[in-house]
Amino acid sequence: MGQIVLTDLKRQYRSIKSEIDSAIKEVIESNSFIKGGFAADFEKSFSQITGSKYSAATGNGTDALYICLKSLGVKSNDEVITAANSFIATSEAISMTGAKVIFADCNRYYTIDPTEIEKKITSNTKAIIPVHLFGQTAEMEKIKKIADKHNLFIIEDAAQAVLSSYSNKPIGSYSSFATYSFFPGKNLGAYGDAGAITTNNKELAHWCSMYGNHGRTDKYDHKFEGINSRLDGIQAAILNVKLKYIEEWTKKRKRVAEIYKNELCPISQKSIIMPPTRDGSDHVYHIFAIRADEKERSELIKHLNSKGVNTGIHYPIALPLLTAYKHLNHKKEEFPNAVLFSKQLLSLPIFPELKDDEIKYICDTIKSFYN
Ligand SMILES: *Cc1c(COP(=O)(O)O)cnc(C)c1O
Repeated sequence: MGQIVLTDLKRQYRSIKSEIDSAIKEVIESNSFIKGGFAADFEKSFSQITGSKYSAATGNGTDALYICLKSLGVKSNDEVITAANSFIATSEAISMTGAKVIFADCNRYYTIDPTEIEKKITSNTKAIIPVHLFGQTAEMEKIKKIADKHNLFIIEDAAQAVLSSYSNKPIGSYSSFATYSFFPGKNLGAYGDAGAITTNNKELAHWCSMYGNHGRTDKYDHKFEGINSRLDGIQAAILNVKLKYIEEWTKKRKRVAEIYKNELCPISQKSIIMPPTRDGSDHVYHIFAIRADEKERSELIKHLNSKGVNTGIHYPIALPLLTAYKHLNHKKEEFPNAVLFSKQLLSLPIFPELKDDEIKYICDTIKSFYN
């Protein structure tokens, strides 16, 4: 068995190489580098596949969150509540508006705990950003009830959860917006930076689209100052090719997860904890993270690495404890789950092209560590 990486992007490229290569050529031949026809096609298809009325493509997923917050008028002295366990982009986008980041702990499904959200609401709270972490949707029904009761906006950070759903309703059904990242390693990955916003509100979609393109409607007709955060033509063309496969790839990811669960069943609960799936929340397995004993995790990683299996940790430090948030003076006791899971979680290789014998090999390697 050769080296097994966390996400093998080359294997996927090889399977669609001729389509990708000709799509890139087509963009160059047609001089459609920024926004343009390929991006417009992508926005249309992306709305269809995500079950949303409108999409606005952006330069990346962080900007997508930032633009949504700006469109809702979030500004300094406002507070926005988000998960204590995510990638920093989520909280960064809040700080970019000048608003204050308010972290709430997660529950055992690794998504934000609705009870914790409610505890953090003040008269300054404007919005909630739940993160559909690892590919499993947060408890949107409960979060929506809380938001409605306190008159708050919801933006769903769906960077890790393309094509996931909650209660069989597509992402975005319970909120003003959902945002996506097409960072190369995401389930739907470009070959560079890219992102998108989806919404069912026409005016908001239009505003977001203009804001990401210098506030313009026409070439030099700027209605307000915006920013430069646009999808480039090459990335759009690549994403248009990949959109044709995303449903099939998602099914394959779910299958990989099922094989992992079956194979690891004998040691599950005793030595490791499998990714828990909540009733009603769909899981598209952007990341397949098990939990190991915090005293054994680094040894398990070494064991897997020595047998050619790469692993990851998502994420080794809870957001409130990062040096970047030192000034907020958070204590680890405030976020017991996020802190505990940061010491226990271990991500195993997962991608649609991962082969059955490779999954079995990874599982046998884990089992041999414990037996
Ligand atoms: C990847 C990611 C983002 C956005 O990332 P970009 O690199 O800006 O596209 C936001 N939130 C989460 C949870 C992510 O995983």
